[in-house]
Amino acid sequence: MVCEACNGTGFVNDPAGRPDVCNSCYGLGYVRGTYKPVPLSENKMKIRRAFIFTFLALAVYYGAFSYGFIRYSFGPITTLIILLIGHITAVSFLVFYILFRAVHDA
Ligand SMILES: [Zn+2]
Repeated sequence: MVCEACNGTGFVNDPAGRPDVCNSCYGLGYVRGTYKPVPLSENKMKIRRAFIFTFLALAVYYGAFSYGFIRYSFGPITTLIILLIGHITAVSFLVFYILFRAVHDA
């Protein structure tokens, strides 16, 4: 059964007009039977976006790190410091963002 929310494309435009993965079919373009997922609250949507954003940022970070690692052959200490800083930054961003949302929307 073709997803009605996105007409089978798997993508919808969010209120800001940017393409976003369809929430009804999770980007598959079709749904089973009459299954209607419970819509996430706006707050959860924002936190979910923050997670996706962080994972994308980490993917870019790993790409850049791999490139730098091959290109410049860092020593073990440098490698450790770079990896630590990258993960601490990513985790701090998520923690602060979730805290911010929790306080902001309380
Ligand atoms: Zn859909």
